[in-house]
Amino acid sequence: MRAIYAGSFSPPTLGHLDIIRRAAALFDEVVVAVLSQSEKTYLFSLEKRREMLARVTGELPNVRVVADTGMLVELARRVGADVILRGIRDASDLPLEMQMATANRSIGGLDTVFLVCSPSYSLLSSSIVRDCARHGAPIEGMVPAQIVNDIYAACAKAPDSKRSV
Ligand code: ADP
Repeated sequence: MRAIYAGSFSPPTLGHLDIIRRAAALFDEVVVAVLSQSEKTYLFSLEKRREMLARVTGELPNVRVVADTGMLVELARRVGADVILRGIRDASDLPLEMQMATANRSIGGLDTVFLVCSPSYSLLSSSIVRDCARHGAPIEGMVPAQIVNDIYAACAKAPDSKRSV
C-alpha cells in the first residue's frame, strides 16, 4: 500500500520526520508531498523544502519526495497513492483535519489515515522553528541536524559566529 504524506514542511521538523519514519515501517511506499498553496507565502521556496526533505529522508529506501502546486487528490491520483497520511499533534488539530479528510474523500475518493505524533514532538511546529531561528534561539532539538544551517541562513540570523550561513 502506498501513502501520500502532504504538508507545507516550511521547514521540515523532527515531528514530521518521526511520522515519515513510522509510516515507512507501515506502508510499502511513502510519498512525501511538499505543497504550496497559491494564497500563502513561504519562507522556503517549494524546491528548497523538497530538497531539505529529500536530504533528511535519504536513508529511507521506500520514501520519495515530490513537490507540487496543485490539489492533493490530483497529485495522489498521479502518484498512485492508496491513502492520504496526516499527523495529529493534539485535539486542536482534529476539526480542520476532519474537514480536510471528509473533503478529500468526497472529491477524490481517498481515505485519510492519521498517526498520532510522539509526545516529545506534540508542541513542535514549523512556525515555532521559524520564530526561534529568527531570534537566534537554538533549534537543534527541533529539526534534523542536516538542515539546521539552511534554516538559520533563511532566517538570516545565526546564534553564534561559528555557524556558517
Ligand atoms: P500543513 O500546513 O499542511 O498542516 P505542515 O507542514 O504543518 O503542513 O504539516 C504536515 C503534516 O505533519 C500534518 O499532518 C501535520 O499535522 C503534521 N505535523 C505537523 N507538526 C507535527 C509534529 N510536531 N509531529 C507530528 N506531526 C506533525
